[in-house]
Amino acid sequence: MAYQSLNPATGKLVKSFPEITDAEFEAKIAIAATCYATWRHKPYTERAAIMSRAAAILAARVDEFAQPMTVEMGKRINEARGEVEFSSRILAYYAKNAEKFLAPVKLHPTIGDAHMESSPIGVIFAVEPWNFPYYQLARVAGPHLMAGNVLLVKHASCVPQCAILFEKLMIEAGAPAGLYTNLLISHAQSDGILDDPRIKGLALTGSVAAGRSLAARAGKNLKVSSMELGGSDAFIVLEDADLEHTVKWAVWGRMYNTGQTCCAAKRFIVVESLADEFLAKFTAALKALQPGDPMDEKTTLGPLSTEAALIDLLAQVDEAVAKGAKLLLGGKRIDRPGSYMEPSILTDIKPDNPAFRKEFFGPVALFFRVRDEDAAIALANDSDFGLGGSVFTQDEARGKRVATRVETGMMFINNISWSDAELPFGGIKDSGYGRELGDMGIQEFVNKKLVRTAHIEAPA
Ligand code: NAP
Repeated sequence: MAYQSLNPATGKLVKSFPEITDAEFEAKIAIAATCYATWRHKPYTERAAIMSRAAAILAARVDEFAQPMTVEMGKRINEARGEVEFSSRILAYYAKNAEKFLAPVKLHPTIGDAHMESSPIGVIFAVEPWNFPYYQLARVAGPHLMAGNVLLVKHASCVPQCAILFEKLMIEAGAPAGLYTNLLISHAQSDGILDDPRIKGLALTGSVAAGRSLAARAGKNLKVSSMELGGSDAFIVLEDADLEHTVKWAVWGRMYNTGQTCCAAKRFIVVESLADEFLAKFTAALKALQPGDPMDEKTTLGPLSTEAALIDLLAQVDEAVAKGAKLLLGGKRIDRPGSYMEPSILTDIKPDNPAFRKEFFGPVALFFRVRDEDAAIALANDSDFGLGGSVFTQDEARGKRVATRVETGMMFINNISWSDAELPFGGIKDSGYGRELGDMGIQEFVNKKLVRTAHIEAPA
């Protein structure tokens, strides 16, 4: 029983789902391949009608989708509702804009005419994480289905109900058989699918380890892939920052989704002159969070997604402290049923401490004080990751200069409003490659074909 819906707020098992057999798996791949043969030729209007209906269903039945998310992975209900609404906006965005994004582009060669066409490439395999059970699916379903591809999706083993609900959503919206298929499969089955010639691409969001393993298999088969992996984003506070505004973003940036966000603020890098004041306000704000039932709108601190995630994170904190870091706040599990952890702050993390380079996927902030702007940028860049980051300063031009010098895929000035349907999302270094969302997101799995017309004789 690898796929389990287990409530991390209570520790109670809700439901188990068996993995599918190899024969069932083969049948699903075959149906997807058959679907592609016709779906690829459907006009955009027909594809958009299905996608728009899926968006409308999500928007109309927010709680029906939000509640299973809260039950399965502990997301606080208001955040869960926000995610359902956002997923709806992503699907609607691609329904509206796909044709424009993929329209032929005229080129200007010196001789003759030429243009680029964009066409689908086939069945895409998507592997997705639990931390945003629907948003992650919308990020692949919206663009890639609108582009004329079809999807086989392996979702994380702890959110099977959300995975199944999203597949049902697409079917209810009118998707033909095989257009969007949820797969309750093992890692071994996942690996094997990349050798199958019917599969043309891999879109993975998850850990660096999963990315390395599956991207290698895709690479061996010369299949195009996009990787959205982990991060350890810097949150840079310069001496001219508006502290009240900054601390509110610091708390949200670290604690949203109980800290389990790839592009969460994880390393707080504060210029010396503001460091003590920032730390005092940040600590007080984290201390004030109240653990409770994530289904209760008043709860300000939810559980981690699973007991295993909690145990791993506690061990990471213990290791950091054993190697010389200081624990300024928290660091322990909360004494109540469920997988809850105290909001925590680690300081004095030296470069030889494993914590210096690792991602902390939960309510643990790493705090660093630095001399000045240059030192803040150097520390931000001293990371294996390169997903996002932010800088807080009242001088916007200075913020933009700092943003340019930080080596990541995304930078935010005086905010960390990470994600919008219209804006490309993704990173560099160990945070992966490729982009999701926006115009760029739909270009990842399409054939960019050059077509040239020229009335010229062959060279002798
Ligand atoms: P994970 O263990 O890599 O799981 C993600 C997905 O990959 C799950 O569906 C998982 O399935 C599957 N998977 C893992 N190893 C696999 C393997 N060897 N073969 C086939 N499938 C495999 O990631 P996580 O720790 O749960 O998720 C959090 C990570 O995702 C963090 O590092 C976070 O930063 C990153 N993330 C990145 C983004 C982004 O856009 N850059 C967004 C969200 C999360 P099982 O559940 O069955 O193991």
